[in-house]
Amino acid sequence: MQLQDEVTKIKGVGPQRAKDLEKHGITTVRDLLYTLPSTYINLDDVTSVSELEEGKRAIVHGVVARDPRLVFVRNGLKIVTVELACEGGVVRIPLFNQPYLQKQYTRGKELRFMGVAHKDGSYWRLDSARGFLHGGITPVYPKFAFIKPAMLERIIKEALNEVEVEERFSEEFCEKAGLISEMDSLRLAHIPKKPEDTAAARASLVLRELLVYSCMLREAGRRDEGAPQAFSDFGILGDFLSMLPFKPTEAQLRSMREIMQDMSEPYPMNRLLQGDVGSGKTIVAFFAAYLAMRSGIQTLFMAPTAILAEQHMRQAEKLFGNEAALLTAKTSAAERKRITSGLSKGDITLLIGTHALLYDTSEIPHLGLVITDEQHRFGVAQRAALSRGEAVNTLLMSATPIPRTLALIQYGKAQVSVIDELPPGRKPVKTRIVPSAKRKSMYLWLRDRLAEGAQAYAICPSIVSSEENNMMSIEQLSFELSSCMSGISVGVIHGGMSESTKSETMRSFAQGELSLLISTTVVEVGVDVPNASIIIIEDADRFGLATLHQLRGRVGRGERQSECYLVTSKPTERLEILKASNDGFEIAQKDLELRGAGELIGQRQSGNEYLRVASLLDDLALLEYSAELISGMPTEFPADYAVLCDEAKRELSLLGDKVVLN
Ligand code: ADP
Ligand code: MG
Repeated sequence: MQLQDEVTKIKGVGPQRAKDLEKHGITTVRDLLYTLPSTYINLDDVTSVSELEEGKRAIVHGVVARDPRLVFVRNGLKIVTVELACEGGVVRIPLFNQPYLQKQYTRGKELRFMGVAHKDGSYWRLDSARGFLHGGITPVYPKFAFIKPAMLERIIKEALNEVEVEERFSEEFCEKAGLISEMDSLRLAHIPKKPEDTAAARASLVLRELLVYSCMLREAGRRDEGAPQAFSDFGILGDFLSMLPFKPTEAQLRSMREIMQDMSEPYPMNRLLQGDVGSGKTIVAFFAAYLAMRSGIQTLFMAPTAILAEQHMRQAEKLFGNEAALLTAKTSAAERKRITSGLSKGDITLLIGTHALLYDTSEIPHLGLVITDEQHRFGVAQRAALSRGEAVNTLLMSATPIPRTLALIQYGKAQVSVIDELPPGRKPVKTRIVPSAKRKSMYLWLRDRLAEGAQAYAICPSIVSSEENNMMSIEQLSFELSSCMSGISVGVIHGGMSESTKSETMRSFAQGELSLLISTTVVEVGVDVPNASIIIIEDADRFGLATLHQLRGRVGRGERQSECYLVTSKPTERLEILKASNDGFEIAQKDLELRGAGELIGQRQSGNEYLRVASLLDDLALLEYSAELISGMPTEFPADYAVLCDEAKRELSLLGDKVVLN
């Protein structure tokens, strides 16, 4: 039996059990064996009766004093009570609904039980107990809804008996990396002999996985293959700049030059464009697309939301004319057809879109540049899927500044351009914390400002009100404002609306037809309406620092002095930090201190679709180690490196089909 075989090959696993396992994502023997114990217990850590403590978990060891009786209680409940003669006294162990145990735990049997101790009259009782025939280290498996831990353990042991695992790496490499063979690590992880075995086995399996993962990151931005090459021509840069309505900042120019340098080299660019909200990343990305166009290269530009993709498209039309097209979930069939043919003929050189781009199968003969805006919203696999297996230049854009180790996780070995300067004339947004009690007067004040021509956002943490969340909702706020905003045109936008309603509302707000936009965090990223100068964030304490900073970044984009109001009934440290600083890097640093690295990447850690045993947070040191090992492998261990690359490519292609937006 091989790791890639279906679980049905294992003795005792029939179609029904296979179905149950599948519900937990286990279809192959590999899936099964990589379901590692969540912890281990040492059954030799026995507590004597005199040391039992009320309500505490303990392991007792003894001999069954008499054949247990089977008792039927109400509702068909069956109880087998084992009386175990231990050192220092008898312990009673009631076992529910497992009548067969009556025949197994017979008089004279030596057993161990783990459970919770309770004093019951003059006896000790062990509740929620599980029996063991042997001592030693025993694995505890994660709780699954459809498979009992004991069953899982049995199937795993059976599989370990039958499976043959061929070692992929050379002995020399394993020795250098400190790897235990895969078969031995699996065996030790599931059936450890000594307490030390468990950590060593796990570390070895984690390192194996992280080696592949590091290789995937490398593959997603590899430099060793040829990619379509752009011209290095300052004339093109000049042409581009002459079309802009403003002068670029030094930092924007520097980034454009770095991109031109990268793209004119014969291997793929893998560059991260980092800059605070409002620093003007979009125009730099458009320069990359423009340079591509002038060099005969086609570009895919992916944004996380339709609102953002449409906004980019409006700007792209001015720079690229009809060589730019937009593809989202709501693009009509006729337009799709036009796009497909335009792409294949090369008439369309820039295709902007949402994740709909991932599933688009149009032929793009000269695809050579892939741009991802707000890249932290996408995973490694999605980025890889976007490049369609081609060696292309990639440009990732992000407003989230992150420490080096986290950058390694999210971007692999990328080059970084930083826009560390805001366009001139920007006045820092004034931030105030408003106690909930003063909301009414704030909105009255807002009304006058809107009447004078200002535009504002009002952000709520939820769409509808509910008893338990007790948060300001779109529903409630719209109702409250309906009376005090007479004469003001108010729009509402949230994630529960259809794409077309959302984009229509967004368009009217952008064109100034609406003065006030009541919204959820759907406007969090990227939305750019320079005339909007006021943002009110309701129940601001409900949002994280990064989100608040992003939301505040929706204003302060034009000439007007902008203002941000954080409404709250319980001021927090986070809100004070935001009030004190407008600098995204500084805020991110504080955020990191407040929450720790764990939450910062949280759900959005890219590539976690692949990881089974490794955790990017707990195993950060091993991740760095794997990246270090990998960098020397092509020269030192070329054969092992080839094995790794094959696996990374295979995993990436598998993930390509089931990419998930997080
Ligand atoms: P972000 O980096 O947050 O994506 P955008 O690219 O949306 O920022 O730019 C924010 C706003 O600043 C846009 O309205 C854009 O047109 C404007 N802008 C960008 N660069 C400059 C500049 N050099 N001078 C003036 N305005 C600029
Ligand atoms: Mg942006």
